[in-house]
Amino acid sequence: MTRFPLHNAPQWVEEFGSPLYVYDAQTISAQYQRIANAFDPNISLGIHYACKALNNINVLKLLRSLGAGLDAVSIGEVRLGLRAGFAPEEILFSPNGVGMQEIREAAQLGVQINIDNLETLEEFANEFGNSVPVCVRINPHIMAGGNAKISVGHIDSKFGISIHQVRHLHRIVNTMGLHVHGLHMHTGSDILDIDAFMRGATLLMDLAHDFKELSYIDFGSGFKVGYRPDENTTDIEQFGAKMSERFRDFCMEYGRDLKLIFEPGKFLVSESGIFLTTVNSTKTTPSTVFAQVNSGFNHFPRPMLYDAYHHIENVTNPDGEPRIYTVVGYICETDTFGYDLKIAEVRNGDVLAFHNAGAYCSTMASNYNSRVRPAEVMLINGQPQLIKAREEFEDLMHGQIELDAFEPKNETTLEELMMTEG
Ligand SMILES: *Cc1c(COP(=O)(O)O)cnc(C)c1O
Repeated sequence: MTRFPLHNAPQWVEEFGSPLYVYDAQTISAQYQRIANAFDPNISLGIHYACKALNNINVLKLLRSLGAGLDAVSIGEVRLGLRAGFAPEEILFSPNGVGMQEIREAAQLGVQINIDNLETLEEFANEFGNSVPVCVRINPHIMAGGNAKISVGHIDSKFGISIHQVRHLHRIVNTMGLHVHGLHMHTGSDILDIDAFMRGATLLMDLAHDFKELSYIDFGSGFKVGYRPDENTTDIEQFGAKMSERFRDFCMEYGRDLKLIFEPGKFLVSESGIFLTTVNSTKTTPSTVFAQVNSGFNHFPRPMLYDAYHHIENVTNPDGEPRIYTVVGYICETDTFGYDLKIAEVRNGDVLAFHNAGAYCSTMASNYNSRVRPAEVMLINGQPQLIKAREEFEDLMHGQIELDAFEPKNETTLEELMMTEG
């Protein structure tokens, strides 16, 4: 859970308005260092930040300054990465379900390309042959976590080339003369069961022996952070030690040192963020007390989308008597942030802080209900700095083209109309 001091939160709201996302740069750096330090320093380690979690340019620049590479899932993210100063070869483009146009564009920009579909690989080979090296995404069908909504490695998943299609993969690679420089997996599962993750990783390393030109293996992500105060998280130090040992053995057998890559999103930024909202009112109904805040799933979709738990606390009345609330938003649709939450007594105007707001919150926000998106602030050495302005009404009109067709044609009144008809 988010750890940075919240006693200044009311000031941030006063200065930058409400609702507000706040990210702590120090927390991001600390999480980055934790991963970097968890692995054997003799291994060439690549930490590629999965920027779909939080794509503010300053967050990308911060992670680049720490030594991270980038994991991009769209051409837009590739461009953001280049804008943030990543070298093309530091960016791995791992799209799913895109057409050749987007892959071509990425190839032209010089970034690493990760292909997760045999048909697409054939198309790629027809166009680029052996002139552009490629990474292939394998689906090992290992399900380490329990949540099928966030797991992408299971048998029904649309992601990756099934491990059962590897014979076909080799046929394409060999016939077309492709240069496979990387193997990739991303099961999306929570690495709580380190051994389950290691089974998937081992499958990938077993496959790797049949690809002689590799320079890296990318094991994706799955690093788990705590959303509840007492939740278990990935024991990254233990995981790093086990993985380092296994990977060193692999490199010995392979005959060459490869780069070991991970691409965490959530682990790097989830706990760095809080989302601050203001209570518009409370409402007692026959079943509960609602605390109604000035936001909704337009800004903060994870609870509605994934049944995700986000810890909520009252930062303006921290010593109030705890009561049970259902926290909801102002969207004209059910937008519950949490049921039966024990929160210090909530009064109108209180500021509620939602924890773990760094990952998959602002990047998933929309303008639904014609609501503008909030401002974003970054704490740098504890000092708040605006990194994204709150949207304004005109942003809702941006790109809309107002046609003349529906303008009132003339000023004919109903009375005049009746007279002409009469
Ligand atoms: C989303 C994504 C990640 C990051 O996953 P987290 O759970 O946020 O760490 C990594 N790799 C790929 C290919 C992804 O799509």
